[in-house]
Amino acid sequence: MALLVQKFGGTSVGTPDRMRAVAEHVARTVRRGDQVVVVISAMGKETDDLLRIAREVSNTRPGREMDMLITAGERKATALLCMAIADLGVEAESFTGSQAGFLTDSTHTNAKIIEVKPDRIRASLAAGRVAVVGGAQGQSAERNVTFLGRGGSDTTAVALAHALGADSCELYTDVPGVFTSDPRIVTNARKMEHITFDELLEMTANGCPKPAMRSVEYARTHGVELHVRSAFTWESGTVVTKESTMEQAIVSAVVHDADEAKVTIGGVADRPGVAAHVFRALADADVNVDLIVQNTSEQGVTDISFTVPHGDLEKAVAICETAGAEVGFTSVTAEPAIARVSVVGAGMKSHPGVAATVFETLAANDINIEMIATSAIRVSCVVAEADVERAVVALHDSFGLANGPVYVD
Ligand code: ASP
Ligand code: MG
Repeated sequence: MALLVQKFGGTSVGTPDRMRAVAEHVARTVRRGDQVVVVISAMGKETDDLLRIAREVSNTRPGREMDMLITAGERKATALLCMAIADLGVEAESFTGSQAGFLTDSTHTNAKIIEVKPDRIRASLAAGRVAVVGGAQGQSAERNVTFLGRGGSDTTAVALAHALGADSCELYTDVPGVFTSDPRIVTNARKMEHITFDELLEMTANGCPKPAMRSVEYARTHGVELHVRSAFTWESGTVVTKESTMEQAIVSAVVHDADEAKVTIGGVADRPGVAAHVFRALADADVNVDLIVQNTSEQGVTDISFTVPHGDLEKAVAICETAGAEVGFTSVTAEPAIARVSVVGAGMKSHPGVAATVFETLAANDINIEMIATSAIRVSCVVAEADVERAVVALHDSFGLANGPVYVD
């Protein structure tokens, strides 16, 4: 008998038919002899709808009330799924995040988990029931309802799997697993059987939309095995585990992020404290700066370029203009139409030449590289947004990813 956490995303439970299909899958798992804890998202696009209504109703939108509102979506879904499971003769009980023992900090709309005490979930399982928990929610020390942020249901599932010592955490979604590249862009992208936490973390940090990056971090820290799979075909998906001691793919995946913009500050005096001043101002305004490149200086002046999410571009430019007036640099330029393409693979740590192949591939396709960044298992290039899809296709091809990975020992 295994203990499984099964998480279902919004699309997986988007309609009454989908709810019933999920209930059947859960009931089948129970009949097979396994214990199941379900974590569920709000149905379909309900979270977006609730956010939209809130914007229409209010300009203030206090965090406490936003969290009460948004978490209602998941709460409705838990009750409905329990009803559908009951129809199949299996007992199920719904739980809010707070009933499931999720204690969080009080950062409304983006709360962090402090502790999970799933006593009531354990009791429910011991009584032979299926526990159905609302995703992305908890309770603060002040006993207010909190929301864990967009994509937070993945984190709920992983944290619950860890707290319960579950055998596996299955993340059911609308795609059959983690792909070597976005299948909408690369027609011969392949579903991976296995991937390491480190690789998936790099992928989610560099544009791969699912699972939520925070949940992958949590799973890596606590060693929770993940299985990303489809709620539509029920076929086996991608298993995410610790780094294997055996062979490792040199390159596992090519991901891209088009939600990037570039800011360049020019005529920056090359002396201590200038970068500190600018980036402190950006940090204090909560601008999430990513890739940063500073040129070597000529005659005591240099320029610095960095990327930010599109949504932060205007704010970043305004802050740089103010900072420029304070520390005396001459220009601030914004380039909204850029994107980042990244190749990721645990095997590149011990295999030279990956960066060279990336640059050659882009050059052969006449794609200009604006910025370069690397980690131990990733090479990223910033290119014009208009070129990024061609870059993804070309890199996927030149690393032979459609044919299966090339390994190093
Ligand atoms: N429903 C929420 C969202 O779409 C939380 C989640 O499902 O992860 O972000
Ligand atoms: Mg979701």
